[in-house]
Amino acid sequence: MITRRKTTQVNVGGVLVGSDAPVRVQSMTNTDTADIEATVAQVKELADVGSEMVRLTVNNEKAAAAVAEIKQRLHDLGCDVPLIGDFHYNGHRLLAEYPDCAAALAKYRINPGNVGFGKKKDKQFSEIISIAMQYDKPVRIGVNWGSLDQELLTTLMDENARKPKPEEAEAVMREALIQSALISAQAAEKQGMAADKIILSCKISRLQPLVLAYQALAQRCNYPLHLGLTEAGMGDKGVVASSAALAILLQQGLGDTIRISLTPAPGEGRLREVIVAQELLQTMGFRSFTPQVTACPGCGRTTSIFFQELAEHIEGYLRKNMPVWSRHYPGVEAMEVAVMGCIVNGPGESKHANIGISLPGTGESPAAPVFVDGKKVTTLRGDNIAEEFTDMVTRYVEERYGS
Ligand code: SF4
Repeated sequence: MITRRKTTQVNVGGVLVGSDAPVRVQSMTNTDTADIEATVAQVKELADVGSEMVRLTVNNEKAAAAVAEIKQRLHDLGCDVPLIGDFHYNGHRLLAEYPDCAAALAKYRINPGNVGFGKKKDKQFSEIISIAMQYDKPVRIGVNWGSLDQELLTTLMDENARKPKPEEAEAVMREALIQSALISAQAAEKQGMAADKIILSCKISRLQPLVLAYQALAQRCNYPLHLGLTEAGMGDKGVVASSAALAILLQQGLGDTIRISLTPAPGEGRLREVIVAQELLQTMGFRSFTPQVTACPGCGRTTSIFFQELAEHIEGYLRKNMPVWSRHYPGVEAMEVAVMGCIVNGPGESKHANIGISLPGTGESPAAPVFVDGKKVTTLRGDNIAEEFTDMVTRYVEERYGS
C-alpha cells in the first residue's frame, strides 16, 4: 500500500484534489475555445471517457467570451465537468473584462513565467489572485521550464556563479522552477488567498529533472501537486515517457492530479491522454476505471489472429459499455477478464480473472474452456465463440454487480 503525501485539499468545482481524495485525471482541449460547438463536443467527449477536470485555453477576448456559453451548453447536455482556464500574458485583463468567464471557470491556471513582465508581473499576478478570491476559485500555479521566469533564473544563476563550488546549470534551473512556484504561492497567500485554494505544478519535458524537481517541491510545501511530463511527444514515446515519469512519483506517494500531455497524430482524437492516465493509475493500483483485460502476447502456439481479434473486441466492448455499466453495476470497473491464446498459461490466468477464456493453440483440440470465479463452467466450440463469450461477460456483469 502506497502512503500518499499529506496535503491540503482543494475543491475544484466540486471535485476534491489532494489529501485523501483519489488521484484525479485531467485533460486539455485542443480546439479553438472561441469555437463553442467544437469545444463543447471535445470537452463532453473527454468527460465521457473519464476526464474529471478539463482545461481549456483562454487566450483572447473571443475565447473568454465563449467560456460561460460552453459551460451552459455542457450543463444542458448533462455534463458538469469542472472547466479550468489556462491563462498566459493577458489573464488579468480577460478575467476582469469577462466576469461571466471568471465565474464559469472552476479554477484558473496561472503560469508565473509569463503572467507579465518586468514591473507589471507582480501587479498582474495580484490582479488574477484578487479575481480568484472574489469568485472563490482555486488556482494552479503551474511553472513550466519552457516559460520559466527569466529574471528569477538569471538571479539564481548569478548567485550560483559566485559560489565557491557552483552547482550544475540544471540544478539551478530546477531550483528556479521550484522557487517560482513557491514564491508565487506565498504571494497569493500574503494577499489573502487561503492555502487550500492553491495547487502547484513544476513541469519539465525530461524525466530525471522532473522527478528531482517534484521530489524537492513536495518537501517544501504541502499544497497538492499536479503532475505532468510536459511536451511528452507523440505515440509510444509520449506514453512511455509520461508513464515512466509519473509512475516514479506516484509510487513515492507524490501527485494529486495528473495529465498525460500527448501530441495527437494528425486527425487523431484527444481521448488517448485520458485513457493512458486511467490505465496508469489502474495498473499501479490507485484506482479502477474500467475492467482490465489480461491477454497474453501470443506466440508461435497461437493458431490465428482470432485470439487478437477477440482480445481487442472484448476490450472495446467493456470500454464502450462502461458509461452505462458504471451507473448500474457498482464495482464493475475492478472486474478482470482474461483472453488467452493457448493451454500453456490460458487456464491458469483465466482462473485468476473474474471471467476468462483460453483459446485453443496449435495442435490443441478446437475447444475454448471458460472459467468464472476460478472454476471452469463451460467449453465453447464452433464459429460463435466470440459472441458466446461476450454474452457470458455481459451476464457475469449483470449477475455479479447488479443490485
Ligand atoms: S499463453 Fe500460449 S499462446 Fe499465449 S503467449 Fe503463452 S504460450 Fe503463447
